[in-house]
Amino acid sequence: MNPFQYRNGILHLEEVSLESAAAEFGTPCYLYSKAALVSSFRSCTEAFSSRDHLVCYAVKANSNIAILNLFAKLGSGFDIVSLGELERVLKAGGDPSKIVFSGVGKREDEMIAALEAGILCFNIESESELERLEKVAGTMGKIAKISFRVNPDVDAKTHPYISTGLKENKFGIPYYDAMRLYTKASKMEHVSIAGIDCHIGSQLTEIPPFVEALEKILFLVDELAREGIPVSHIDVGGGLGIRYRDENPPEITDYAKALLEKLEGRPQKLLLEPGRFLVGNAGLLLTRIEYLKHGEQKNFAIVDCAMNDLMRPSLYDAYHEIATIREENGEPVVFEIVGPVCETGDFLGHERKLVAREGDLLAILSAGAYGMSMSSNYNSRPRAPEILVDGNKCHLVRERENLSQLMALEKIPGK
Ligand SMILES: *Cc1c(COP(=O)(O)O)cnc(C)c1O
Repeated sequence: MNPFQYRNGILHLEEVSLESAAAEFGTPCYLYSKAALVSSFRSCTEAFSSRDHLVCYAVKANSNIAILNLFAKLGSGFDIVSLGELERVLKAGGDPSKIVFSGVGKREDEMIAALEAGILCFNIESESELERLEKVAGTMGKIAKISFRVNPDVDAKTHPYISTGLKENKFGIPYYDAMRLYTKASKMEHVSIAGIDCHIGSQLTEIPPFVEALEKILFLVDELAREGIPVSHIDVGGGLGIRYRDENPPEITDYAKALLEKLEGRPQKLLLEPGRFLVGNAGLLLTRIEYLKHGEQKNFAIVDCAMNDLMRPSLYDAYHEIATIREENGEPVVFEIVGPVCETGDFLGHERKLVAREGDLLAILSAGAYGMSMSSNYNSRPRAPEILVDGNKCHLVRERENLSQLMALEKIPGK
């Protein structure tokens, strides 16, 4: 569903005019549509409804506790990558027995907290991590449920920075080593084998790499069964892409159909770790044009948000649609949309054709995933507030940071 619409010439998110939202909350600010979040979650569970499955929302895509709470109420599990994310999920009312813990660098204190919470599964990414977990769980007198994140060496055909399933990537255990590590783990006292998992990358716009990875995982599942090491779940990771511009990502139903076909006749529970798919197109970043500047070669629209608010364009040269809030008629001009940060890489969009004046509002679309969660305070810029829109209501779910909060943890020696 698309929650954005022009009504009477003004862009609305659900029933909220973005002009009035800007007046109430200031700019820049993030806005998310509750209806769009619910709709993407439901489309995912419905697509997989023919078999026992659990959606574990990848918290890092957008970790606001209001969003986690919304997904928890819909029955979601969670894929976490840090103690901070664990605390967020628990605070949001998430069920610890639906949490999987991914990441290559889990610290001892993070393992302890996750064991205390009673999470569903540790997704183990190295032999050293397996040994550490065995020790930590042993000290606590607990048994840790594990799965190995296997690197299937599949080309996800996405941006190199968000491709994770190739041999040269730091993620997962090597495919050839999986049997040895499962055998080793099966003999340990304080870990018990629950599943197997993979995650080959993010923003995938084709189905075949997912299927190829699953086939390789299923080959191991069969091999493991022959060795007397059954797994009770298969976690296919996340990575399903969304439309930012002219991409043609698979429909969730086609993605599901392709995976379900491969899984037919298998008793294991299916786990999924979607992040971007659930939140990406449910949110936008609202910003105001401070200045128009006509350079010798280019025209610049200097806006009040920057790479610290939305890092994706600077980091991955990612494209976000940028729309004017007022439906304008007039002669559009080609602008570089840039922020105030002192970096040439601080841009939100290149060569955008807009009818724009100083003081106008712009909406940077598809900013629900890896927007706020990747934001920083670079250039001592307080983070933007976040607003959850529900029909005609706006819920402020994170306040704008203020400058004293920015400096609260700092000290001048001797004072
Ligand atoms: C980031 C990540 C995800 C989510 O990826 P999306 O592309 O946002 O769906 C899932 N699983 C793991 C292990 C991840 O690191």
